[in-house]
Amino acid sequence: MPQRPYVIDQLISAKAIAARIEDLAREIGDEFRDTDKLVVVGLLRGSFVFIADLVRELDLPVEVDFLEASSYGDAMESSREVRILKDLRAAIEGRDVLVVEDIVDTGHTLNHVTKFLLSRKPAKLRTIALLDKPSRREVDFKAHWIGFSIPDEFVVGYGIDFAQRNRNLPFIGKVRFTDEA
Ligand code: 5GP
Ligand code: MG
Ligand code: MG
Repeated sequence: MPQRPYVIDQLISAKAIAARIEDLAREIGDEFRDTDKLVVVGLLRGSFVFIADLVRELDLPVEVDFLEASSYGDAMESSREVRILKDLRAAIEGRDVLVVEDIVDTGHTLNHVTKFLLSRKPAKLRTIALLDKPSRREVDFKAHWIGFSIPDEFVVGYGIDFAQRNRNLPFIGKVRFTDEA
């Protein structure tokens, strides 16, 4: 399918993201002050820029791991069925874990992923998402930390893609199609 023409309107600047991450890192630092080595789990692929910036602001011993759950594919609609496509390398039983996600939308992904990880009996499991779209929620899920709450817009940039494009934008923008009558 050929790509429809679109432009990207900036929603959150790189500077605003960096400032928010500094605050979040401070709160996370307080929460895990006594943790021996925190396992920071990024959900592939959308969180890769966020986790990179976040861990560099954390003044804590961390281990970085990744998990991949099935998602949109290349469509703009979420699937309600979540599958684990790539599992962790780390064993998390008895350990403190922070799950890092790009966006909480319907809530199905993080709801499923946290249940999956809790079944391995971590000592403490917390979740952080850069973006939250509360108006889209279909299951009752709330992340422990949210970067920004946003309206129901399809966003890209800062690791987040549209059909595997635009992940490399340094800011968060919303997609606006230009072929609409
Ligand atoms: P949920 O399971 O909460 O509905 O969906 C979470 C996932 O949907 C996010 O991790 C993200 O991959 C994808 N998603 C939700 N909203 C957007 C969006 O505006 N843009 C993009 N590219 N992906 C989104
Ligand atoms: Mg995702
Ligand atoms: Mg995607």
